[in-house]
Amino acid sequence: MWFPRASASGVFVYDMPSLPKRNKRNKRKQDNDRPRVPSGDIAFYNTKWGNVSRLYRKLNPLCEMCKASGKLTDASPGDRKGVTDHIVSVTNGGARMDERNFMTLCKSCHDRKSALEKNGWTCDKGGDYGEYIPINKADAIKTLIK
Ligand SMILES: [Zn+2]
Repeated sequence: MWFPRASASGVFVYDMPSLPKRNKRNKRKQDNDRPRVPSGDIAFYNTKWGNVSRLYRKLNPLCEMCKASGKLTDASPGDRKGVTDHIVSVTNGGARMDERNFMTLCKSCHDRKSALEKNGWTCDKGGDYGEYIPINKADAIKTLIK
């Protein structure tokens, strides 16, 4: 089970407390040793991600792209209504289990974001421990709904 915890900046971060933190050196070495897991890979989108994804959408049930355009669209868990999206995709080094890199999307907005990403869309990104998060989530969403 994955438990959220408040990070130093006050936002919730999901991690597994029993595992030691990797330092940047180990992370870099590991990245060189093994190919990037492509987005959608079954090894990553496993039960643990399912739990985190459902929990995030339980807490944030509305599509965040629709909300930024003034529409309220239910993307809560169940009935395949929506997805929890990595704003900076995992294939681009986005943080997998950090809430700052999550957003709730309805299927239609997720399809739209995927198409934009295929055309090179990315947002300003920063990050700690070598994984990226959007520098400003609201600004990132604004560039998606233009
Ligand atoms: Zn939407």
